[in-house]
Amino acid sequence: MQPFVYEALPTRVVFGSGTVAQLKAEVERLGVGRVLVLSTPGRGEAQAREIAALLGDLSAGVHAGAVMHTPVYATEKALEVVQEHGADAVVAVGGGSTTGLGKAIALRTDLPQIVLPTTYAGSEMTPILGETKDGMKTTQRTPKVLPEVVIYDVDLTLGLPPGVAATSGMNAMAHAVEALYAKDRNPVISLMAEEGIRSLARSLPRIADDPQDHEARADALYGAWLCGTCLGAVGMALHHKLCHVLGGAFDLPHAETHTIVLPHAVAYNAPAAPDAMECVARALGTTDAAQGLFGLAGRLGAKQALRDIGMPADGIEPAVRAAMAAPYWNPCPIEEDGLRDLLTRAWNGDPPWA
Ligand code: NAD
Repeated sequence: MQPFVYEALPTRVVFGSGTVAQLKAEVERLGVGRVLVLSTPGRGEAQAREIAALLGDLSAGVHAGAVMHTPVYATEKALEVVQEHGADAVVAVGGGSTTGLGKAIALRTDLPQIVLPTTYAGSEMTPILGETKDGMKTTQRTPKVLPEVVIYDVDLTLGLPPGVAATSGMNAMAHAVEALYAKDRNPVISLMAEEGIRSLARSLPRIADDPQDHEARADALYGAWLCGTCLGAVGMALHHKLCHVLGGAFDLPHAETHTIVLPHAVAYNAPAAPDAMECVARALGTTDAAQGLFGLAGRLGAKQALRDIGMPADGIEPAVRAAMAAPYWNPCPIEEDGLRDLLTRAWNGDPPWA
């Protein structure tokens, strides 16, 4: 066995159905008394109001101002609300966008956070915060943004539309796939990664067929937790780097971008990571990891071409240059021709290399 370093992150996790009922007790356990509930506007706000009502006199109100990619202007507005309401903790109810706002507040105030995830993005399990300012996205890793408590309530995910569940679930799988060939991988995280991929691969098709399949929703959320833990514990590589470049340059939707790029990034890295590929294929119940991921995305009805989610054809060359610009670790050397081929296939919606 290779030597390794394993560091467990200290988030408390409460998992189940109806676990939102434990929120008040978790708030009391933290010893705080004025909790601001965060969400995105619209449907998310209605859910946040229900949750604030559960908190009774511990609630300091709702702020439905979360925005995708955590723009600093949205954080500054939220900090004003925190101050006005004298909040001493935040509860984030929603997907990665809402979790990001809670983390951005914690970074600046050290307020404790409780997160109730409603997608499979996995941000709640990571000490990572990505923020945007003046069109630039920067990412930092600091324990200050790691939530104190995560309450996974399967019931809160029942309303996640199957199309969003599909791409959000593939986004989660991407964390686990890259964890399996991470430079700093370790056997414990690899176990979680394989199990996370397996849980999502078996549950997402069931959710596509029957969005109210409670058992499948529980399995998917369990998988998302495992995959988020992988993202928080070890470094990522080519796939996450490319999605970051594409999202930032063309304002592409986060989970859809991950869904489209993942099979191609896996095909690129396959020759250099045979053990990881074997794990991914085993978890998917296939013989080839890249083809298996492409087939799963197709089975779920997800879009499979970058051109269909808003990337212009003349964006391929700038994306290649941006991905080549800053060096980062990857199991396979990053080469311009290979990247161009990868992105061209992903743009067209072609299957990955055989
Ligand atoms: P999101 O939070 O923007 O949610 C996607 C959409 O789904 C939103 O419109 C939201 O209102 C809606 N939604 C969420 N839950 C729902 C539910 N249960 N029912 C119905 N609709 C629901 O998107 P996301 O994919 O969860 O997160 C993406 C963001 O998270 C990006 O900004 C990404 O950079 C960030 N992220 C960060 C990390 C990290 O570790 N820092 C990890 C993953 C993602």
